[in-house]
Amino acid sequence: MASSTEGGFTVWLTGLSGAGKTTIGHAVAAELERRGLHVEVLDGDIVRTHLSKGLGYSHEDRDTNIERIGWVASRLTRHGAAVVVAAISPYDATRKTVRALVEEQGPFVEVWVKASVEECARRDAKGLYAKAFAGEITQFTGVDDPYEEPDDAEVVADTVALTPDESVALVMAELERLGLAPVAEPAAG
Ligand code: ADP
Repeated sequence: MASSTEGGFTVWLTGLSGAGKTTIGHAVAAELERRGLHVEVLDGDIVRTHLSKGLGYSHEDRDTNIERIGWVASRLTRHGAAVVVAAISPYDATRKTVRALVEEQGPFVEVWVKASVEECARRDAKGLYAKAFAGEITQFTGVDDPYEEPDDAEVVADTVALTPDESVALVMAELERLGLAPVAEPAAG
């Protein structure tokens, strides 16, 4: 049988700031690399320092940011990469736009990294929720900007209930089920 892992695909992690997209995304990327795939990670925070430098957090700028990431993901997918995107991507219509764009080239696997605003604020790994609740920063998703919950995600990783490892396992199981990731060889010994 020809390998079903020759074609590229995109794993798109969406969710609130601090929900765990970067944590889970990097671990999924490492696991895909371990299984021999060519992987590229597009992390929203990093994209905003390069490709989307200068964009803000208005609805229009958020859409431009996500559409740029989607376009790059589609090009990489076309050339056989396993693309892992970690970006809040709060708007349903925009997620559907980038899904359609990527699906012209290969599979799009949406992962809703799900955690409540309360839990993300409790973690507040980047100190941003405290600032948003204090009004020091505005247009903050989940506080004074919307997050439209996905209704079509292939995977829902509830990071209140699951450890990071469990979320990664959930994503890998879906990629295996779809024939996108080779099944892991059992550990030696
Ligand atoms: P995001 O990329 O969604 O903004 P990050 O991955 O950067 O989120 O940050 C999530 C933070 O929450 C990390 O510091 C991570 O260690 C922590 N965390 C605590 N519990 C979990 C969990 N169950 N799953 C994922 N991350 C968790």
